[in-house]
Amino acid sequence: MATKRDYYEILGVTKSSTASEIKSAYRKLALKYHPDRNKEPDANEKFKEINQAYEVLSDTKKRQTYDQYGHAAFDQQSGFGGWNQQGAQGGSYRVYTDGDFGGFSDPFDIFEQFFGDTSPFGFRTSNSRSRRNPQTEHGRGEDLRYTLEIRFEDAVKGSTQEISYKRFEKCETCHGSGAKKGTGSKTCPICHGSGQEQRMQQTIFGSFATTRVCNRCGGQGKIIENPCSNCRGTGRVKKSKSLTIKIPAGVNMGTEIRYTGDGDVGERGSINGDLYIAIRIKPHKYFVRRNNDIYLEIPLTFSQAALGDVVNVPTIDGEVKLKVPAGTQTGTEFRLKNEGVPYLSSSTRGDQYIKVKVRTPQKLTRRQKEILEELQQEEKPQEFWKQFFG
Ligand SMILES: [Zn+2]
Ligand SMILES: [Zn+2]
Repeated sequence: MATKRDYYEILGVTKSSTASEIKSAYRKLALKYHPDRNKEPDANEKFKEINQAYEVLSDTKKRQTYDQYGHAAFDQQSGFGGWNQQGAQGGSYRVYTDGDFGGFSDPFDIFEQFFGDTSPFGFRTSNSRSRRNPQTEHGRGEDLRYTLEIRFEDAVKGSTQEISYKRFEKCETCHGSGAKKGTGSKTCPICHGSGQEQRMQQTIFGSFATTRVCNRCGGQGKIIENPCSNCRGTGRVKKSKSLTIKIPAGVNMGTEIRYTGDGDVGERGSINGDLYIAIRIKPHKYFVRRNNDIYLEIPLTFSQAALGDVVNVPTIDGEVKLKVPAGTQTGTEFRLKNEGVPYLSSSTRGDQYIKVKVRTPQKLTRRQKEILEELQQEEKPQEFWKQFFG
C-alpha cells in the first residue's frame, strides 16, 4: 500500500485547527475536486482522499484516535473490514472495535451529508456512481435497525436467537400495486412515465441541466387514480416478522449483522431495504471482556496465598484447576492460554487472565486470633519493617 498522506496536510489545516476551520477547508476542496466538475484524471482519487480525511478529522473521537495512533488506527485488519460474506449463516457481519472503524464511508455519501439536498451542483449530473441510479434506488424500502441484547456467554460461544420486529410488507389486498381492485394507474402527466424531471439549475458555477425524481408521481412514472383502501395507495402495510438470528462465536459490542432484504419493502413493490442487527452484550457477573481476552479476579485467603493451594476457577468452558504457588502476592496475574473469546472467522482464541486479590480477614474467631498473634510474634514485625526502612 502506498504511504498515506497526513490528513491535516490533505485538507491544508493543522493539528490545532478548529472544527469550523476544518469544515471550511473541506468545503473548498470537495467542491474543487468533485468528479462531476473536475475532469482531471486524478480528481476521483483526490476526492476520495479529501473525504476520508474529513471523515476522520470532523469526528472528535476519530480525530483523537488519529492524533494518537496515526493511519494505523484506521487500517483494516484482514478479515475484519467491511462485510464478511462467509460469516454468520444467513447474515453477514462487520465489526467495530476500539480504534477500528471498519473502513471508510463512501466519499459521495460524506459529500452529500455535508451539502445536503442543496448540493451546489444541483442534483447529481453525472453517473459517477451508477449504483445510486434514482430509477433503481428510488422507492427502495428503508433499512431497519434492531438492537439485540445477548448474554456474555452467547457472545463468546455463539448462539441462535429468535427475534420479532415490525416492518412494511407488500399489501395483500392490492398485491403491492397501491391501486384499488379492478382499477389501474395512468401515466404521469408531468414526466410522461419517465419518473424524472429535467430542469436547469442556477448555481454559483453557472447553470447545469439536472435530473431529479418527478415530484408528482414520486419516480413511479404512473399515478394511481383509486388508491387501495388497505394501504392508502402505498402498496405496503406494517406487519410483524420473526427471524432466526445466528450469532457467530466471538461477536463483540458493536458488531453488526446485516440481513439483506429483511428491511421494509419499498413503496409499490419496490426492492426491500436491509435489516441491521446491532449486538449489545449484557455484563457478566464476574467475567470482564477486553477484546478477545477474559479477565477474572479471584479472592484468596491470607493462608492460601502464603502456603499455596490448588483452586477451582471458572472459565467460559467450565471450571479448571489453578495451582497457586506459595507466597503469591495480591495483584499477581495468571494466564490460561486459549481460554478467552474466539476470533471471528478464525479458529484461534484469546486468553483468560486471573488476578489474585488476597483478602485480609476481618472477622476472626478466638482461635484464629490466637494463631495470628502467635504468627505475629514469630514474624517479628519490627525486623520486617527494618528490611525496608532500617
Ligand atoms: Zn393495498
Ligand atoms: Zn411523474
